[in-house]
Amino acid sequence: MKYEAVIGLEVHVQLNTNSKIFCGCSTQFGNSPNSNVCPVCTGMPGALPVLNEEVVNSAIKIGLGLGCKIAQESVFARKQYFYPDSPKNYQISQYDKPTTYDGSVVLKNGKKLGITRAHIEEDAGKLIHIQDGSLVDFNRTTMPLIEIVSEPDMRIPEEAYEYLMIVKQILRYLEVSDCNMEEGSLRCDANISIRPKTQEELGVKAEVKNLNSFKAVQKAIYYEIERQIDVVESGGKVIQETRLWDEKKEITLSMRSKEEAHDYRYFPEPDLPPLVISTEWINKIKASMPILPSRRKEKLMNDYGLSEYDADVLTNEKDFADYFETVATRRNAKILANWIMVELLAKLNKKNQNIQDSPVSAENLAKLIFLIQNNTISGKIAKIVFEEMFLQGKTADLIIKEKNLVQITDTKAIEAAIDDVLEVNKGAVAEYKAGKIKILGFMVGKVMQKTQGKANPGLVNKMLKEKLDA
Ligand SMILES: [Zn+2]
Repeated sequence: MKYEAVIGLEVHVQLNTNSKIFCGCSTQFGNSPNSNVCPVCTGMPGALPVLNEEVVNSAIKIGLGLGCKIAQESVFARKQYFYPDSPKNYQISQYDKPTTYDGSVVLKNGKKLGITRAHIEEDAGKLIHIQDGSLVDFNRTTMPLIEIVSEPDMRIPEEAYEYLMIVKQILRYLEVSDCNMEEGSLRCDANISIRPKTQEELGVKAEVKNLNSFKAVQKAIYYEIERQIDVVESGGKVIQETRLWDEKKEITLSMRSKEEAHDYRYFPEPDLPPLVISTEWINKIKASMPILPSRRKEKLMNDYGLSEYDADVLTNEKDFADYFETVATRRNAKILANWIMVELLAKLNKKNQNIQDSPVSAENLAKLIFLIQNNTISGKIAKIVFEEMFLQGKTADLIIKEKNLVQITDTKAIEAAIDDVLEVNKGAVAEYKAGKIKILGFMVGKVMQKTQGKANPGLVNKMLKEKLDA
């Protein structure tokens, strides 16, 4: 308890543009190795990069989404290092003049976390290690990335986790990346240091890489904080280094001593002019921005009277909120939200399907809910109908007609069923009259069975009770 941790995250987002950042090669994932390549992205001598305008559009969107300022003029820089999957021996990135900077996101508890910058850069290729050596695939070289660097504002692993969730959610709303951590389109490195709680000055940090899931980020930070405290408590010193997260053993391992910025010998990229972004350009992007998650959540609460929890779940993904709002009204909102969150999402998850591809359209789900609300079918029958709707893509009306599932609200028909049940279950009737009120539920069940679940349960309950108490 004597120490506090200081955590900052670097998030790399792979943009979903059709072509790479400096050439026309495809960015298609999963193509055969070294098929999406040309002289530019394989670093052939004399090949010249040309900046992809779509990448700048995405960068501006991300900057605006994260509350950043957009630089009127930003500069690409060469970051030099040797790595076998980087054929140019340098990476084109941005250094002291990034395209967007100085933003923030707000956690649920209101704490504001600063974002230092979100800059544009190119990706490296990929090494594939086999038994006899290593192979290199250049399909990924020069894929467009945005690196989002946070301020060291986080103090506990949970804050880092939440920050990452918020950033991912915003990026998904902006539709600039699919943000799939497992496929590497969202990558995260964590900078962690500790210091005595009474100390202002930052401790020496370690950078942890190879974090392939949100859970891994949280676990690795936990581990690293404990490790650094152990080092200090046993009289040692934390050294500045890069560490790798070992997913299986759940520990971090030293990889290399951390290089300083000057080791990279950054200088302005001579093959690319400074990137100039006009106010008009920014305004054009602003006009195309979706409502971002936190405002969308407020909107669902205000416009439809949803609870904070429901609004939170439905705005988790933009597509959920879109689906909901297509057909939501104040009258059906609560029940519609429930059906989406419980029935629909469970089924979609099971089949690993997205809500846009749902076999039950928002319109058809709204119709089903209308039929529950006007007592055509009970909630229980609705579940059976929904099952069929999901399997066959038919409308609720059609299924109810085909299966003859219309709810019985005709009191005569219900009375007849009740009389039959009372006749056959004389023992239960006697028990009820002797004071065992609970047996009423059993008899309601019998009546429902007799009507194949089609009787209105509220009516059955009321009428049965009246008969027994008479
Ligand atoms: Zn290329």
